[in-house]
Amino acid sequence: MPTFEYAPAPESRAVVDVDSTYGLFINGDWVDGRGTAFKTVNPATEEVLADIHEASPDDVDLAVKAARTAYTRVWSRMSGADRGKYLFRIARILQERAREFAVLETLDNGKPIKETRDVDIPLAAAHFFYHAGWADKLSYAGYGPDPRPHGVVGQIIPWNFPLLMLAWKVAPALATGNTIVLKPAETTPLTALLFAEVCQQAQLPPGVVNIVTGAGDTGQAIVDHPGIDKIAFTGSTGVGKMIARSIAGTRKKATLELGGKGANIVFDDAPIDQTVEGIVRGIFFNQGHVCCAGSRLLVQETVADEVVRRLQRRLSTLRVGDPLDKNTDVGAINSRAQLDRITSLVDAGEAEGAERWDNGCALPQRGFWFRPTLFSGVTQTHRIAQEEIFGPVLSVLTFRTPQEAVAKANNTPYGLSAGIWTDKGSRILWMADQLKAGVVWANTFNQFDPTSPFGGYKESGYGREGGRHGLEAYLKGSI
Ligand code: NAD
Repeated sequence: MPTFEYAPAPESRAVVDVDSTYGLFINGDWVDGRGTAFKTVNPATEEVLADIHEASPDDVDLAVKAARTAYTRVWSRMSGADRGKYLFRIARILQERAREFAVLETLDNGKPIKETRDVDIPLAAAHFFYHAGWADKLSYAGYGPDPRPHGVVGQIIPWNFPLLMLAWKVAPALATGNTIVLKPAETTPLTALLFAEVCQQAQLPPGVVNIVTGAGDTGQAIVDHPGIDKIAFTGSTGVGKMIARSIAGTRKKATLELGGKGANIVFDDAPIDQTVEGIVRGIFFNQGHVCCAGSRLLVQETVADEVVRRLQRRLSTLRVGDPLDKNTDVGAINSRAQLDRITSLVDAGEAEGAERWDNGCALPQRGFWFRPTLFSGVTQTHRIAQEEIFGPVLSVLTFRTPQEAVAKANNTPYGLSAGIWTDKGSRILWMADQLKAGVVWANTFNQFDPTSPFGGYKESGYGREGGRHGLEAYLKGSI
């Protein structure tokens, strides 16, 4: 299909000052980490952005103690209305500094600027606004007349939506009166560290939010620390299971938001052009680095050829390249390790007999890239139908009846999301009732809102984030 060139439309980097080195944010101040420093790179260019200190177990101990003191002396004594004022302040600062956050997130993560600008940062601010409103209304939330916070919570987040995952965790924890030790992912620490500056700017009392950087060992030190009352983790199912094992038999609470292998189900009466856009949004948004991505397309046999043909045409128009360019649709893969994981699963798909197609676009010389890819002829037993690829790769399967669609959609160890595309409201309701997924979208996909609870079934984890349900996880008497 003929494509036409767009003139480059790069967003300026000038709004961001990246320091050469970042320490840890403990008790409202920057301190040196005692672990081994590591580097964070721009995945689109492999340029080193900054040296990041690693928090050792002793540093984590310092952070937990700071959070405990802030909890007992200040935060647990403050009224909900006053806590809410800090959240409103943080939300407004995020909005004021939105462009700076969007550019920094794109540099550190590799995702397109149009996504950080239009999705990640506005939604992060929206989470703070939403939870600010709850802070003085907790007695009316349905958790008893005087719901109490856990105390000090340890929060560990992944690299796919760095600031947004921080907001999903920090906003409800603060609104409910907990204090925090948070660890961002090792490949994307920069927006969390800029958020530490926002806490200072908002004059949040020292120790209420502490941010420690590092990889799995630092995360483990948070999980194991006896001063932590609750763990909130978002990441892979493998690490989630390790955390569940570590805290078993202790008094620590946990919420786990883990992986997924979402089914996007297309019936023959669906409006095809709209559906194709929804399928693209479902799996190629954020390079497919989305836990609830619609990575398995289940399409009714009678329209399968047409849907695949139209999808291929649409995928050929996706613009892959410089994430800072405002016309870019698909950015860089976040790390070499993730690129290797995607490549090995895609190779397995081919070896097991599925038919591989990609859009053949040119890729930049440096950095980590993967072409939008589609597999047809996929069967239930193929690894690409069972395992989370976490990249821009769609597996297409077919079905004949709604019952078969449900059986195939539920045939996965995960249960995070699903999508249904059909003209019939009754079929949507029947399907939604049968699907074992925490979120079911109808005639749309990957829509997020702070008021709407999000979470999984089975190996996708337990607990909910967002909405009234999400508050529960940060209040005593809950999971
Ligand atoms: P990961 O599990 O490797 O890492 C997640 C976080 O855990 C990182 O901060 C990492 O440093 C830390 N960590 C690693 N080992 C640890 C340990 N032993 N103890 C404590 N912390 C440890 O996952 P990832 O590759 O960063 O993220 C991708 C995964 O996250 C995917 O599986 C995706 O589906 C999932 N995810 C889920 C949701 C959700 O809401 N359900 C949202 C986003 C991502």
